[in-house]
Amino acid sequence: MTVQRAANGTRIKSGQGRLYDSVLDTVGNTPCIRINNLAPDGVRVYVKAEFFNPAGSVKDRLALNIIEAAERSGALKPGQTVIESTSGNTGIGLAMVCAAKGYPLVITMADSFSIERRKLMRFLGAQVVLTPRAEKGFGMYNKAVELAEKNGWFLARQFETEANADMHEQTTGREIIADFEGDRLDYWVTGYGTGGTVSGVGRALREKRPDTKIILSEPANAQLLGSGEAQGRGDDHGPAHSHPAFEPHPVQGWTPDFIPYVLQEAIDKQFYDELIPVVGADGIAWSKKLAEKEGIMTGISGGSTFAIAMQIAAKAEKGAVILCMLPDTGERYLSSPLFEGIAEEMTDEEIALSKSTPGYQMG
Ligand code: PMP
Repeated sequence: MTVQRAANGTRIKSGQGRLYDSVLDTVGNTPCIRINNLAPDGVRVYVKAEFFNPAGSVKDRLALNIIEAAERSGALKPGQTVIESTSGNTGIGLAMVCAAKGYPLVITMADSFSIERRKLMRFLGAQVVLTPRAEKGFGMYNKAVELAEKNGWFLARQFETEANADMHEQTTGREIIADFEGDRLDYWVTGYGTGGTVSGVGRALREKRPDTKIILSEPANAQLLGSGEAQGRGDDHGPAHSHPAFEPHPVQGWTPDFIPYVLQEAIDKQFYDELIPVVGADGIAWSKKLAEKEGIMTGISGGSTFAIAMQIAAKAEKGAVILCMLPDTGERYLSSPLFEGIAEEMTDEEIALSKSTPGYQMG
């Protein structure tokens, strides 16, 4: 769509054409945005910017559907407490949904995830129970199960529930198909946390855009899928053990220390054509470049996905079109390695600028 402009060139916006009854109705319909400065010539690269969701990440989608599916099935009763283990974005999404719908929320989270995440959940009215980082994702998951069983709370089960991939099939996937209708879409690039995004969008693309190649990524030092080693599961499909190929990695939100059941669908149905590992440092570097060169602020997982999209773009044929998922906002990482090296105090260059005119200098 071309940008509308007034006679003097000012951009014109005309509103959404509707009023919204709830913040929940603003989840989804995120834009696919062209990369103009970082993409190689002759290849069109787009990013699907999930930070346009109301609580800032792709997980708003799943949070909304988990709660509404449980309301529909009767698994969640009015006023019942919701509990979940999450690396952050699901907790923030659930906190937003539970606040809007009036459910108390308890989150279990390893203490290794960024402080912003904890504070945002508490800001949205949730309680956050920290678990030791040494016990990894498996530990925070088991803590949520223990608390749910003891108190009769509703466990959201993002790693196992059908509501996860279903939402991505019906929203994320449909949106992509609609936005690229009549256009090429040669590659779609994503990572995985629960696998909801790749399993749900995978269903939609395989049905409607079978020629689109799906590229999946995981951290180079935690290649759970690349190892080829299967995941043991309990009767409830939850992980029976920590996966041997796991190592702590900097891509928050990606690759827990087990292969989630929701992701298993994408493995079993061969929803990805290629699996490409990414080094965390490259993800951080590309996230910074997206901010500096495109004005697009995304987290480490977005930078990591984009690193792979750039690899694909470099070897793609002329005219190819690539879409890359950006799961969340860069603002969620102020206390993380993503912002290391971003100065708090004035740099030498800034001090020189300050001294270059007589007034208003710092002491
Ligand atoms: N990136 C970030 C920052 C996330 O929080 C998540 C979800 N945990 C993902 C990527 C992966 O999304 P999914 O769970 O749908 O695989």
